[in-house]
Amino acid sequence: MSGLSTPSTLPLPRLRPWLLLGVPVLLLVAYLVLMDNGAVSQAGTYLHELMHDGRHLLGVPCH
Ligand SMILES: [Zn+2]
Repeated sequence: MSGLSTPSTLPLPRLRPWLLLGVPVLLLVAYLVLMDNGAVSQAGTYLHELMHDGRHLLGVPCH
């Protein structure tokens, strides 16, 4: 039963490269979804609707 009560620790040195890559990617995606108002997604209506639905999903007022 000692295995159930042992707290696990995060291997921060092993996670650091993924955090350094993932955080900017997440911020870029959030920026594109939140701020895109046709500037990036003019290429097609599918991408525009995807960004639009993302704004609604995140609760950002748009219309
Ligand atoms: Zn909308």
